[in-house]
Amino acid sequence: MKRLRLLILAGTSEASALARRLADEPDVEAVLSLAGATANPAPAPIARRIGGFGGPEGLQAYLRDENIDAVVDATHPFAARMSANALSACRASGVPLVVFTRPPWTRREGDRWTEVATMDEAVEALGPKRKIVFLTQGRLELAAFTRAPQHRYIVRVIDPPAEAAALPDRRMVLTRGPFALEDELALMGREKVEILVTKNSGGAATYPKIEAARMLGIEVVILRRPKPPEANTLTAIDDVMAWIACHRAAP
Ligand code: NAP
Repeated sequence: MKRLRLLILAGTSEASALARRLADEPDVEAVLSLAGATANPAPAPIARRIGGFGGPEGLQAYLRDENIDAVVDATHPFAARMSANALSACRASGVPLVVFTRPPWTRREGDRWTEVATMDEAVEALGPKRKIVFLTQGRLELAAFTRAPQHRYIVRVIDPPAEAAALPDRRMVLTRGPFALEDELALMGREKVEILVTKNSGGAATYPKIEAARMLGIEVVILRRPKPPEANTLTAIDDVMAWIACHRAAP
């Protein structure tokens, strides 16, 4: 049987988990695609490519040139552009696509959430009075917070962003998840965090910050997800493996 050539659009723990599962699958030749957003990406157990494709047309050309049989979009729920490009390129090429994602977090008793739609709304939600703010929403969206220099910011990112220099009172925490609950409790306690800013990323790897905020009575400004792509969507890795097996068996 011909090996299935699979493209995995990555950048999440789901994509990494899928790559690990496929590393020992002799019938699937999978390539993990990274945007190139982080300087030192974690090592991958399967082939890897790095960098944008050049929009939907570029991705369409890649699918054709690399004889890709199927695509798993395992990008982050906030990577809306890549997901839209994948949908459009796969439709135009007739290549099957599945989205592998995690459900959003939902509010539980004790959570003190303010839900917002944009980073500008998140800045507004911090209010005018000085607060100690834990920023965990990612490197690319830091610039908005330079409009509220009255706060002290604890900024957790993988790579140091240039925009951070414009936050006068800041402490950088350079690290990569997953994060344990006890570490989140210790960090938020030590830094006297009063308000946490996060995307509603969903998934287990970064949920302990939400739990820690609940336990410590800390407010959370949480960004709602963008509209999900209108594609077949799975949330369990076994279901994704079954989807792949089904396409492997197709003539
Ligand atoms: P985005 O806004 O949806 O995508 C911007 C551009 O980056 C895309 O148009 C594409 O360039 C390129 N790109 C994105 N993901 C790619 C991939 N897996 N392989 C190749 N090119 C990719 O995405 P983003 O929000 O900047 O996220 C970038 C990466 O970080 C994604 O892999 C995502 O899964 C990961 N990530 C994002 C977040 C977040 O909060 N947004 C959080 C954690 C991880 P071309 O148009 O040139 O193809």
